[in-house]
Amino acid sequence: MNNDKSHSGLLYLVGLGPGSDKVLTPAARAALEDSDAVVGFRAYVDQVAGLLEGKELVAMELGQELERAERAVDLAYAGKRVAVVSSGDAGIYGMAGPIFKVLTDRDWNGETPRVETVPGVSALQSAAALLGSPLMQDFCAISLSDLMTPWEAIARRLEAAAWGDFVVVLYNPRSRRRTTQLLEARRILLEHRSPQTPVGMVKDAFRGEQRVTITDLQSLEAHCPEVDMVTTLVIGNSTTYVHRGYMVTPRGYEEKRLPSRK
Ligand code: SAH
Repeated sequence: MNNDKSHSGLLYLVGLGPGSDKVLTPAARAALEDSDAVVGFRAYVDQVAGLLEGKELVAMELGQELERAERAVDLAYAGKRVAVVSSGDAGIYGMAGPIFKVLTDRDWNGETPRVETVPGVSALQSAAALLGSPLMQDFCAISLSDLMTPWEAIARRLEAAAWGDFVVVLYNPRSRRRTTQLLEARRILLEHRSPQTPVGMVKDAFRGEQRVTITDLQSLEAHCPEVDMVTTLVIGNSTTYVHRGYMVTPRGYEEKRLPSRK
């Protein structure tokens, strides 16, 4: 934490965790307390409203990431201490990207304003904690949002992850407008994985509406309507199993061999 209050401009990139105070890190809390201004998507700013009394708030709507980043960087260049908040971790599909993009475009000198990133608990950690131990071997995260990434790139990554037997965490799986991507992801995964592969669905982790469901790739199609933008999915690999409602990926492959390809 920067204790020199006279220092010019500071950008904190703060991950708020999944949504409960209990999973907000002490460092994130301290960064918010130390800030003059807080910038972020309205729902996240509301999430920490109790900590923000007396601070300048720049709450914006979804889809305004770059405008939000410009505003935050302007404030920091003007000498303010600015917290830019994201849910989960700011560096995982969060505000760190747009902030560094704006800083690069402005030929930032790497020093002023100072940038301090405060890591947060990402949705994949929250989801895994509620599901059991699904991430016990190599895993990857794939966002199904094709708003900023072309679908062909996403499909190629899904294919590679499926072929490579990674446990796959799906972020941004389905919205009101994007309803086909999850079905397409399921189709690609089924080319390499058994229909009985466990699938964990975690909605609103560590929030009031939290819902945890364990199904399999076969039945995922029927569950699709339940999946929304506050849901994270974890698709098991070839060794993942379900035991008494928990999703378990053992620490290693029992025979230390990849299953043969279908
Ligand atoms: N920076 C965030 C991810 C932002 S992308 C992080 O590190 O977690 C937004 C996606 O994150 C959502 O579509 C959803 O897939 C996931 N997500 C965020 N918060 C969640 C929560 N509380 N429960 C389940 N999924 C969540």
